[in-house]
Amino acid sequence: MAGKVDWAACAEEQQKMLASELKNLKVEQGGEASVQHHTGDGDSPEDNQPDEAISSAEVSLLQKVIRKGLITSKYDIEVQRKDPNSPLYSVKSFEALKLRPELLKGLYAMGFDAPSKIQETALPTLLADPPHNMIAQSQSGTGKTAAFVLAMLSRVDLNQNHPQVLCLAPTYELALQIGEVATKMAQFLPAMKIVFAVRGEDRPRGTRLTDHIIIGTPGKVLDWGVKYKFFDLSKIRVFVLDEADVMIATQGHQDQSFRIHKYLPSTCQVMFFSATYEQQVMEFAEVIVPDPIIIRLRREEESLDNIKQYYVLCSDQEAKYNAIANIYGGITVGQAIIFCHTKKTAGWLASKMAKDGHSVALLSGELTVEQRISVLDRFRQGTEKVLITTNVLSRGIDVEAVTIVVNFDLPIDLQRRADCETYLHRIGRTGRFGKMGLAINLCDSRNMHILKDIEMHFGKEIKPLDTEDPDDIVKLSQK
Ligand code: ADP
Repeated sequence: MAGKVDWAACAEEQQKMLASELKNLKVEQGGEASVQHHTGDGDSPEDNQPDEAISSAEVSLLQKVIRKGLITSKYDIEVQRKDPNSPLYSVKSFEALKLRPELLKGLYAMGFDAPSKIQETALPTLLADPPHNMIAQSQSGTGKTAAFVLAMLSRVDLNQNHPQVLCLAPTYELALQIGEVATKMAQFLPAMKIVFAVRGEDRPRGTRLTDHIIIGTPGKVLDWGVKYKFFDLSKIRVFVLDEADVMIATQGHQDQSFRIHKYLPSTCQVMFFSATYEQQVMEFAEVIVPDPIIIRLRREEESLDNIKQYYVLCSDQEAKYNAIANIYGGITVGQAIIFCHTKKTAGWLASKMAKDGHSVALLSGELTVEQRISVLDRFRQGTEKVLITTNVLSRGIDVEAVTIVVNFDLPIDLQRRADCETYLHRIGRTGRFGKMGLAINLCDSRNMHILKDIEMHFGKEIKPLDTEDPDDIVKLSQK
């Protein structure tokens, strides 16, 4: 079985971690209603502080979870290469790539019918002989992982039982995500062996790895390759560096990647992926990726064009709550996301809505990665219809079923000024789903100037809404 022993061990460890973390979650039942939230959430002074942001690695992971199965082609692609005469072509089908039949079967079994935009352009280059090095920049959810995993699997010579492909990821969880894709894609190639070089995976001294593919974090890979010599870095033919921008943001990872890279043969094919394209990332790439073909996907800008925006003037928190209750009483809401400023408000609102019979998920800063994944996964699958959150995740929630976004508190920065960027991330859409979105801002008279600033900034009217007036509520559902 593909990577059986090690994958199973890692998956088991993750399950255990998840199970133990989930013990901290209390599920309150109230008739049909349930709210998932964390119990260690007393009345500590921090509860009244704005919820802290989470690391870029976590954002990246959560985006993967929330976008699972979503692939979009609304991107502009740009290719840069040193030699404009070298042939560069793209493919519209996986068959055109002349893959191993087992891999093609694996792709179909995963439900991949045709390559995504980045795969159309990247795959022929990644699979070409002689191999090309590549730098690819595109956001999460564009099909990068599937592209490089396919290339990794295609390059393995199954007659040679030693590591030939090395893939670095910034965290344990991201490494496991890649491994999961690889294991699925290689399901019809039982001889393919994949091993994880991540925390918790230890081997006795003198081990010689016989696996074909190593997926791991830089520190552990350095230990296995250089310190303990469990495998020979000079025999690596494909080197993948995923989430380079996140790698840079993690202390020591860049340096460890450089050190690993030094031991690789000069003929090794390098694939370098990043969601952003800033100077620092490119400097990193320059050292690691000689003569690359560079592919960039530009995402459509988010905009407020297809969003109906309203505000409701509320005297206090209870009034805000009543406004939400009236909206739910008057129209059918698909899935909703409600943003609060503090953990305390979020927790309060979640309990209250749950008592009223809503199935509510609560996502705030003190949850562990596993808990966040579980909350988001459930929301994405529709188990909970309302997601109440703080600013931990204003980006990346492209859930198609979300019809309404409520700002229970308007987004403000540390100086208590309107935070327009966060506003756009919370309610803006890329227009990819073509649906009209609904944004409702609950604000009190003291915060009206913030609302006006947001309105001015985007040059888009935010209309008043009287949630006590049934006619006004009905208007919300009209096209
Ligand atoms: P990224 O690495 O850019 O975040 P992924 O490779 O993880 O993107 O792809 C995003 C999601 O889309 C994943 O759930 C993946 O299974 C799915 N996906 C990737 N490529 C395809 C494809 N060609 N057809 C259908 N689904 C795809």
